[in-house]
Amino acid sequence: MNVTHLECANCHKEHGANVLQNLCVECGKPLLVRYDLVKAAATLTKESLKIRAANLWRYAEVLPVENAENVVSFGEGFTPLLKTDRIAATLPIKLNLYIKDESVNPTQSFKARGMSAAVSMAKELGVKKVAAPSAGNAAGALAAYAARAGIETFLFMPKDTPRANIIECEQTGANVTLVDGLITDCGKIVAERKDAEGWFDMSTLKEPYRAEGKKTMGYELAEQFRWTLPDVILYPTGGGTGLIGMWKAFDEMEAMGWIDGKRPRMVSVQSIGCAPIVKAFHDGEAFAPEFPNAHTVASGLRVPKAIGDFIILDALRKSNGTAIAVSDEDLIAAVKEIGAAEGLFCAPEGAACLPALRVMIEQDLVRENENVVIFNTGAGVKYLECF
Ligand SMILES: *Cc1c(COP(=O)(O)O)cnc(C)c1O
Ligand SMILES: [Zn+2]
Repeated sequence: MNVTHLECANCHKEHGANVLQNLCVECGKPLLVRYDLVKAAATLTKESLKIRAANLWRYAEVLPVENAENVVSFGEGFTPLLKTDRIAATLPIKLNLYIKDESVNPTQSFKARGMSAAVSMAKELGVKKVAAPSAGNAAGALAAYAARAGIETFLFMPKDTPRANIIECEQTGANVTLVDGLITDCGKIVAERKDAEGWFDMSTLKEPYRAEGKKTMGYELAEQFRWTLPDVILYPTGGGTGLIGMWKAFDEMEAMGWIDGKRPRMVSVQSIGCAPIVKAFHDGEAFAPEFPNAHTVASGLRVPKAIGDFIILDALRKSNGTAIAVSDEDLIAAVKEIGAAEGLFCAPEGAACLPALRVMIEQDLVRENENVVIFNTGAGVKYLECF
């Protein structure tokens, strides 16, 4: 309702907001949604939030949907921020450690946030068929939200995607194709066939609205920390939509006068078997070349080439953050460690943040008594093959 236009994250070309858009028509990079934040802040106040529903649509003024009837929702967002003292006690320095538990979202991952926003917008703009490549959880979320919106769904997933993701998509009515390859290969199939088939491409950051849903994690963190931000955020990074979204949310909140300019140090966590962002960060590159022979059991991290790479790298650097790769062995061990200590059965992607935090402590990148947030992005129960 307060959207003014879409802006290319790379060349800043303006695009119209009330029509279907994928990538920048000039340079082929992602488009970001821009709002009239003065108008938004007139009704979206810290005070107004006190009586709003505990889901991400509480931030409606900074979300893209024009007509509330088009909102497709299962009650996603406003997930718990859990203080995890028992895990913290195992660390060599004293920290205030929190896990933002995204596994309680509909379809058991934070992909629900992005798809709620993106499918709502697809509905608003009259889309009848959507398609996406997915490493797993994005497909599950898209299938569910599109079914609820009455939109037909075509999904392309690597054939070794966790079984739970494949089955949930089939059971929620999607057309599922398993591909002998990686998510990038799946993405190529969507790109080749979408025009002939009449599909709208819902790939991460190839449409502007999934990032808007995921940015609400940033609004929630600020709200849950009483309008301050934590010192460090560890984020398991695949396509990077959530990290990009949160960074954008921080800018928007600052523009609305809700927070000051102090930002968390943003940390991308990846697997050693697929670490394009980690490599590019430490090589000092602005873009991340495709990672060869990508492999990891943390399927959400198996993204060898991210189209928003330059936005992720920029946020890591501007925030004085870093990027850390951990082994599959360590991230799987961390699932049980967190589970046994805190009772949370994390997705392997989320659990990867714990060994990454230990690396940060070893390298003196975290200080005593800082507030550190780990994102548990999904539910371990979807990855039974891993255990
Ligand atoms: C998709 C996914 C990720 C990566 O998220 P991005 O925002 O694409 O970087 C991490 N964890 C889980 C469980 C996922 O499904
Ligand atoms: Zn551009």
